[in-house]
Amino acid sequence: MDLTRRDILKASTVVAAGLGLQSAGVLKLERAFGLESTAGGLSVIWIQGQSCSGCSVSLLNSIYYDTIDHLLTSTLDLNYHPTIMAAAGRTAQAAAQAAYARGNYVLVVEGAIPTGANGNYCTIWDGMTAQTAVRRYASRASYIVAAGACASFGGMAGGSPNPTGAKSVKAILAQQTGGRHSDDHESDEDHASTPPAFSAPLVNLPGCPVHPDWIVGTIAYILANGKAPSLDANGRPTDFYAETVHSHCPLLGSVEATTLGEGFHCLRGLGCHGPTTYADCPSRKWNSPAAGTPGVSWCVLAGSPCIGCTEPTFPDGMSPFYFGPRVGGA
Ligand code: SF4
Repeated sequence: MDLTRRDILKASTVVAAGLGLQSAGVLKLERAFGLESTAGGLSVIWIQGQSCSGCSVSLLNSIYYDTIDHLLTSTLDLNYHPTIMAAAGRTAQAAAQAAYARGNYVLVVEGAIPTGANGNYCTIWDGMTAQTAVRRYASRASYIVAAGACASFGGMAGGSPNPTGAKSVKAILAQQTGGRHSDDHESDEDHASTPPAFSAPLVNLPGCPVHPDWIVGTIAYILANGKAPSLDANGRPTDFYAETVHSHCPLLGSVEATTLGEGFHCLRGLGCHGPTTYADCPSRKWNSPAAGTPGVSWCVLAGSPCIGCTEPTFPDGMSPFYFGPRVGGA
């Protein structure tokens, strides 16, 4: 099925509405997409560090596009993504380098970045550690998006005892000195060109995984407004992370459960972190069946205490995720 940019716009206006964009914002979105334009979409370089690829899978679950091809080649010009792109090896590497040379792209980082062993716990290709890659590709990016809990704050990879020295994108870039780092194993190409310090806005989209709307909505906002969305103190878009899970939970005010599986009972006594976790999961939910329709469920509605996966202290500060008797009192 061939889709036009008008189709993209229709789909994206749903996201825009979710972002609270009014008609003026939608018009900006229309202009940004340029219905008469035949140029490709927003250039994206997507780097995977220490990740389970769950955030990439979540992106592919976006229902705002009839086909994922459409999202990746029309709205986004996904120049490099190690697990989605058809190209491999040197061809894929060359695509990333070409996008880097052109500049003016969105750098998306998925996964934490290991700093132990000179970054060699994770290499994205020969001679290029994830650590070096993040610094290098951030230097010519217009925007940087940390997709998921690991890229945003270290996440599971950065949990105690953190044997690989995993860090967030922000922490890696904070170490940027504007020159080649003695702890980096860089390729010959890197030796020839020293990347400058990064200056692009960094948007954190924590969650384990990140919600597909949070990625697509953030990119739609950037396209529509030519700037990063409003962010909270932790670098998260306020459109998605302004209020606590607890504040909109359908179980708010119900009696507290004493064990899992009791039904429509508040899970606070079992360790629910909803009161200190900021995300719009209760209203947005997950696994939407159709564009413009809330998802079908989310962790608490499925009977699990919120584990606080959108917070900087996840997972160590949110542990234990659950306390109390097991289902059935065992
Ligand atoms: Fe708050 Fe969790 Fe209870 Fe919901 S289940 S009302 S998020 S403490």
